[in-house]
Amino acid sequence: MISISEAINFVKAKTDLLETESVNLDEAVGRVLAQEIKADMDMPPFNRSQMDGFAVKTEDVKNTPVKLKIVGESVAGKGWHNQLNSGEAVRIMTGAAVSSGADSVQKVELTDESDGFITILEPTKLQQNIVKKGQEIESGDEIFQKGEIITENMIAALASFGYPDIAVVRKPKVAILATGSEIVDISQTPSQDQIRNSNSSMLKAFANKAKADVETLKITEDNLENLKASISSAIERSDCLIISGGVSVGDYDFTKPALREIGAEILFEKISLKPGKPTVFAKKGKTLIFGLPGNPVSTAVTFFVFVRMALLIMQGASANSLKKGVAKLTHPIKGAKGRDSLLPVSLRVSKKAKLKIETLRFSGSSNFIAFSKTEALVFVPSDKNLEKGETAEIMFLP
Ligand code: AMP
Ligand code: MG
Repeated sequence: MISISEAINFVKAKTDLLETESVNLDEAVGRVLAQEIKADMDMPPFNRSQMDGFAVKTEDVKNTPVKLKIVGESVAGKGWHNQLNSGEAVRIMTGAAVSSGADSVQKVELTDESDGFITILEPTKLQQNIVKKGQEIESGDEIFQKGEIITENMIAALASFGYPDIAVVRKPKVAILATGSEIVDISQTPSQDQIRNSNSSMLKAFANKAKADVETLKITEDNLENLKASISSAIERSDCLIISGGVSVGDYDFTKPALREIGAEILFEKISLKPGKPTVFAKKGKTLIFGLPGNPVSTAVTFFVFVRMALLIMQGASANSLKKGVAKLTHPIKGAKGRDSLLPVSLRVSKKAKLKIETLRFSGSSNFIAFSKTEALVFVPSDKNLEKGETAEIMFLP
């Protein structure tokens, strides 16, 4: 049996980076940058007014009211590119270039216009209402690094600096295989002894979020030959195969024998982890193979800790593990004998702005109903009980 961190290191060591491709900006959210992003111009590109008003010499409006001659108009897209002299003002709109010679803008509400003259009613401070050229970023500065996952909030910057297409790492091809003679398709009404296949849809949603290209395979019953055939054909066309079920030590658990017989290299098959002890990690050729325990909560937890990380490493993401944090327990939690636990919990922010852990009404790793409220996994060291009020380590789900 290996520890959680040893298992993580095994996965890291065996996962390779995929090739780079180009993607349109509109399709880029969630993808991993394979290039550095730099500003190709100063931002703002010129001294820019933040207000509708009048560009003036600050010195001229020290003592107000003061009357200045309106000598021009600077609008967005068409600036007044002349020298402003003492005693003069330029009418200016939000987003327009501030004429040289002007060093502040008074907003229109604090002015009074008549007969080609403007009366400035209140003094301005130097640079008031002006964003200086290059104040936000200068041409050539780096904005984003290789390995960053593109978020919605980064799109404006990518668009502004002229990146209609972006180099990203290609999506990993993932095949999902549910196994178990009791498992039927979700469109069917299960007969006695059967249950619907919740794992394939769940894993597909998780893998999609990690930007994988997902193929869901036909459910395969607990039969060694059929399983070998399903696994072999899936491996040929995928970077990663995720199998759920059949990894324990029951008489009808055929995942490991099937992997061995097709010549996959089994890298680990037992982790000191609850839920998820019988998780299998193997590799055949370039394809990573994860055999996850079939109980939906075990499937989910092991996906988040191991499979998601592998999918993100394949894409070159520098942040490839679940984000860690700490939070306070509102209920005691019992640790497991001889195994560390990663238990699904929900979170709440207290009135005192403290992050609190709410334990879920958990009856075991088959409880996908409780799991639906999960926001984080709480780490409970083996053979240890965490008390109410204690601070615990958590990992946020994506
Ligand atoms: P196994 O890992 O095959 O021992 O299965 C453990 C438990 O998970 C059993 O109760 C299975 O019925 C259940 N299970 C296995 N595969 C799935 C699946 N695809 N969807 C829902 N439950 C499953
Ligand atoms: Mg089974």
